[in-house]
Amino acid sequence: MKKFAVIGSPIGHSLSPKIHSLFAEQAEIQINYEAIEIIENDFNSRVKQLFEDGYSGLNVTLPLKEKAFHYADMKSEDALLATSVNTLFIKDSIVCGETTDGRGLLLDLKSKGIEIEGLNVLILGAGGSAKSVIPSLLSSNPNSLSVVNRTPEKAAELVKIHKQKNPEINQIGIDEKIHQEIDLVINSTSASTLGEELALPEGIFGPKTTSYDLAYSKEATPFNLMAKKRGVKKTYDGLGMLINQAALSFEIWNKFKPNVKGIDLKLRS
Ligand code: NDP
Repeated sequence: MKKFAVIGSPIGHSLSPKIHSLFAEQAEIQINYEAIEIIENDFNSRVKQLFEDGYSGLNVTLPLKEKAFHYADMKSEDALLATSVNTLFIKDSIVCGETTDGRGLLLDLKSKGIEIEGLNVLILGAGGSAKSVIPSLLSSNPNSLSVVNRTPEKAAELVKIHKQKNPEINQIGIDEKIHQEIDLVINSTSASTLGEELALPEGIFGPKTTSYDLAYSKEATPFNLMAKKRGVKKTYDGLGMLINQAALSFEIWNKFKPNVKGIDLKLRS
């Protein structure tokens, strides 16, 4: 039986084992998919051991995606653009690294009828997940992509990486007032996970704004509740992105494209 795992810290509440077992049922294959706690300092030795122990693929989550990027001998184009890896596997004795986060987000947005092309998009946060999804958002030709972060230097760094090829990316300060109507606000901060307040620029939500929170929960997330209070009608959380990025990993490893429809309902029940 093929063995897979999601690695990270903390990892106890990961939904990935459940998602991959639902995909394996669809593919009519038997897999063993575990959640394994690994801390940053142990990354190289533990991952080496897992592959030596016969694991066919690893999903990588917080806080190890950058470590995985450096560990992989061969990186996909998406991974190179994002400088992040969430999927590791061995091909022809070479450790390969891929990121499926950005495409996972785009697929989920598309399933909700949201096409990025021509939209004014604003992303809150400039951490690991922002870094992974920004290249995919830019490749979909938004009219503008604004990055807002509590620590402005980090947003500036991200904007600088992409500005030359994508002049539509820009930075907005947390205490600035937004004058342009934002079509889509993506929350990629960990404020709600940490139970902290999230400061926002004035005028971020307009009557036509949609909000998408990368965080997810059974109930509405704190960010989406706040967006609703400010008049936002369409709010989504990141469960669909999680499912879609998992499906892309599953397809790489097992050459089977899972049907993601209805998986969210099974996970939320
Ligand atoms: P990081 O730790 O890499 O980045 C966190 C970001 O949040 C930073 O920009 C940080 O700002 C900002 N932040 C944290 N606290 C606050 C606060 N109180 N006010 C304002 N900004 C704050 O985390 P990730 O990017 O990896 O993950 C972020 C979220 O995305 C998590 O909730 C995670 O679960 C979710 N996620 C969901 C995925 C999915 O598939 N749905 C995939 C990946 C992540 P600063 O730079 O100032 O510290």
